[in-house]
Amino acid sequence: MANDYMQAVIQAGGIPVILPMGMEEDIEEITNRIDGLILSGGGDIDPTLFGEEPHPKLGSISPGRDNYEIKIIQKMLQLNKPILAICRGIQILNIAVGGNMFQDIYSQIESPLIQHSQNAVRYHPSHYVYVEKNSMLSEITGCTDFKVNSFHHQAVRNVVEPLKVVARSSDGVIEAVESSVHRFVLGVQWHPEPLAVHGDHISQKIFQRFIQSSL
Ligand code: MN
Repeated sequence: MANDYMQAVIQAGGIPVILPMGMEEDIEEITNRIDGLILSGGGDIDPTLFGEEPHPKLGSISPGRDNYEIKIIQKMLQLNKPILAICRGIQILNIAVGGNMFQDIYSQIESPLIQHSQNAVRYHPSHYVYVEKNSMLSEITGCTDFKVNSFHHQAVRNVVEPLKVVARSSDGVIEAVESSVHRFVLGVQWHPEPLAVHGDHISQKIFQRFIQSSL
């Protein structure tokens, strides 16, 4: 677990607790005790979870983690407790509610794409996202276009209820989703945690709202 996740939570006034794998039997107890859930980044997602065979460009997956996270997400949604889903997290969040995803955007999207695997440092915002006006994300950040970092070759594809698309990059790739029926459920394809830790106000506002919603 990268330290930036913990530091971003602490900076926003929260108390971070890591949930390791191996506690599948205790999901009821865990979800009752925690006030909010951050789904962190990581590797690729098992495509059989959304009814596809592995694409040749699929990277390394962690099937145990996928199933563990899906169960926690479903329970947290039932309890209407806040979820901030980051990078891999936005994808597993959408899978957990029945959506699907691109296993590799560069081979599965025909139109030209921008660079989503930036070579710059993690706290450098490299491309723009364009946010829906009437979304929680634009309300939290106070703007409808801003720059984010980008470290992904996968992306959300068909977004299903209760989620809706609230931000895209200029090439149309989905960069954020949120729920309109839950207290706080936000998925972002970028990594706000190194940005927040390095003083980016927009990313700090996202963590602050997540923590406030958890109270
Ligand atoms: Mn991106």
